[in-house]
Amino acid sequence: MKVEFFGVRGSMASARNNTHVFGGNTSCVYIEQNNGKDLILDSGTGIVELGTRLLEKENPITILLTHNHWDHIQGFPFFKPIYQLNRDITIAVGNVDDKKSEDAILKQMSGSYFPVCYEDLPANITLNTTLSSQKHFTINDFSVSTAPLNHPGGGTAYCVNADETKVAYVTDNELNPPEKVKTSINEWVNFIKGADLLIHDAQFLDIDLPLKHGWGHSTIDQVAELAIKAKVKNVVIISHDPSRTDEQLVAIEKYLQTNYGQKITIECGREGRVFDF
Ligand SMILES: [Zn+2]
Repeated sequence: MKVEFFGVRGSMASARNNTHVFGGNTSCVYIEQNNGKDLILDSGTGIVELGTRLLEKENPITILLTHNHWDHIQGFPFFKPIYQLNRDITIAVGNVDDKKSEDAILKQMSGSYFPVCYEDLPANITLNTTLSSQKHFTINDFSVSTAPLNHPGGGTAYCVNADETKVAYVTDNELNPPEKVKTSINEWVNFIKGADLLIHDAQFLDIDLPLKHGWGHSTIDQVAELAIKAKVKNVVIISHDPSRTDEQLVAIEKYLQTNYGQKITIECGREGRVFDF
C-alpha cells in the first residue's frame, strides 16, 4: 500500500513563499493498494493536483469525506475527473450533524459559489450519505472502520485497512474538548491501536489555548501522547494552521522528535510525502 499526501493545511489554503516546503493546500490524502485500487481521503484543495494524475487512470474514484467544512471540500469543483464523461465517482460524506447539508460538496456548485452546476457534470457521481454512520464497511476493497470526530458540526474519522496495513485518518479532531466528547481518549486509543500510520489533526500549540479551546482541533502534544498510548508505528500531524510558516513547522517537528522521538516516529505532514508499506 502507498499513502501520499496532497494537502496538509487546515482551515484555508495558504500559498506564500514561506509555506511552499510543507505546502499550502488543504486536506487530501491518497491511498493506493498494491492491486491499483485507490481511495481519496477528503477533497480539500490538495485534490486538484491529484485529479490531474487520476486522468490517466480509468478506474472508479472513491472519496471519503470527514466533514463538510470548506477546507475538506473546496478542491472538488477543480477536480478534473468530474469533467470526464461517465467517469464513476463515489463520495461517502462524513456523518455530520446537519443532515440538510450532507450534500454540501455538490451544492457548492450551484451557481452562487461556482459557475458550473453539479447537475451538469458529465461524470457519474454518486453521493453515499449512510456509509459513514456504520462502524465498519468495505469500499473498493478497503476495509474501513469509523469513529465520530470531536469537532463542531460532527464528522467521521476513518481507519483504512488493506494489504495488511492500517492507516488511521483523524481530522479535524479535538482530543480534549470543553464539551462532552463523542469519542473519548480511551476510545481513540482502541480505534487507532497499532496503526502503521496515524494521520491526525494537530493545528494548535499550547499557546493557542485557551482562546481556541472548543474550535475542534488538537495540540501537538496531545496527539503525540495519544500515539504513544496506542503504540502506532508512524505519526504524521496535519491540519497545520494556515499562518504557520515552514520555519515554524520545522521547529515544531524538531520539538516533537526531541520530546517524543524515542518512543514514536513523528513528523509534520508535507505535500508530496509518500509512505510505502
Ligand atoms: Zn473542520
